[in-house]
Amino acid sequence: MTRVKKILAIHTGGTISMSQNDKGEVVPNAQNPIAQQETILAGRVELFTDEMFNLPSPHMTPVQMLQIKQRIDQAERDGIDGVVITHGTDTLEETAYFLDLTLPSTIPVVVTGAMRSSNEVGSDGLYNFQSAIEVAADDASRGNGAMVVMNDEIHTARYVTKTHTTNVATFRTPTFGPIGIVAKDHAAYFQKLIRQDTCDIDHVVDHVYLIKAYAGMDGSLFGFLDNDETAGLVIEGLGAGNLPPQTLPAIQRLLDRKIPIVLVSRCYNGVAEDIYDYQGGGIELRKMGLTLCQGLNGQKARIKLLVGLSAGLQGDALCQFLSTAVS
Ligand code: ASP
Repeated sequence: MTRVKKILAIHTGGTISMSQNDKGEVVPNAQNPIAQQETILAGRVELFTDEMFNLPSPHMTPVQMLQIKQRIDQAERDGIDGVVITHGTDTLEETAYFLDLTLPSTIPVVVTGAMRSSNEVGSDGLYNFQSAIEVAADDASRGNGAMVVMNDEIHTARYVTKTHTTNVATFRTPTFGPIGIVAKDHAAYFQKLIRQDTCDIDHVVDHVYLIKAYAGMDGSLFGFLDNDETAGLVIEGLGAGNLPPQTLPAIQRLLDRKIPIVLVSRCYNGVAEDIYDYQGGGIELRKMGLTLCQGLNGQKARIKLLVGLSAGLQGDALCQFLSTAVS
């Protein structure tokens, strides 16, 4: 007989903890309805609850992400077998990836949320919460790093992204696909995850920025970052990783300040590569000193840069850390 698993549920807020009022507005609750659920998977799981935050996820910052990481470190020392985090979906992928990068990949860490609040018809919160507990309690989930479980699918924190404003099937993994599904009473994996190095940190740096490129862009936005405070920058480039030529002088000034600049693609699918050799093409950008980060979207690359800088990585070590998203 399999032993009862100790699962810690960390609640942080988001739609999963909210309700619709009589005007049809979705609002936070003083009491989180999901946190009252104690009987989920009764007999197979002993559920512990920590209502750490009650935040809409646009209010979430790396400071709170670090607090969640530290709470999970503590849970692991206390003998917890797996952790589920409930979170607003808007920035869920960023918290999940932060945890993936900073936690040792031992006990399962599963992040989930909801697209419909707790009292709406077809609310998906309780169902996703139950699925996430199922995945966190499954031995097959060990060693997979942080995962996102929503709508019966298991995704890696590294590549999953929110793709729809309201649809319950919003979380998708472009290019690579989900790594498994939530089956009747277990997690069924059909892809093996290539693990990447993790980076333990005890503080988070500030002033790490993300800018998206567009046709006709010039250097103005980059000029605003040309100061002593800027710690790092991620640029979502065009296509395979190219930029309008008018941006280059301002970008060069940031590089002259030794500000690390990471280049990803603004495309939904694919990886950034140095393919084109024209002014502003990926080959020139690489030669200038931008680090191409393959496979991560802009918001994930920003989290990775922030974690690398917070760990004190610099120069080649930082470039190496940033450029190995696809192993
Ligand atoms: N805007 C909400 C939030 O991210 C959406 C959600 O919770 O799913 O908190």
